[in-house]
Amino acid sequence: MAVPARRTSKTRKNKRRTHYKLEVPGMVKCPNCGEFKLSHRVCKECGNYKGENVVSK
Ligand SMILES: [Zn+2]
Repeated sequence: MAVPARRTSKTRKNKRRTHYKLEVPGMVKCPNCGEFKLSHRVCKECGNYKGENVVSK
């Protein structure tokens, strides 16, 4: 069975794990209510998109 010739250094291991992120990117603050929302999506808190009330709450 193939086995790694060299031990993976802390730096290399940590660099690989920079891709492990907790949150989904593309989160912005809603200009209407200040709540975090996905960009290019209607705000789920107030139903606002581009200064217009799309979904009534
Ligand atoms: Zn909002």
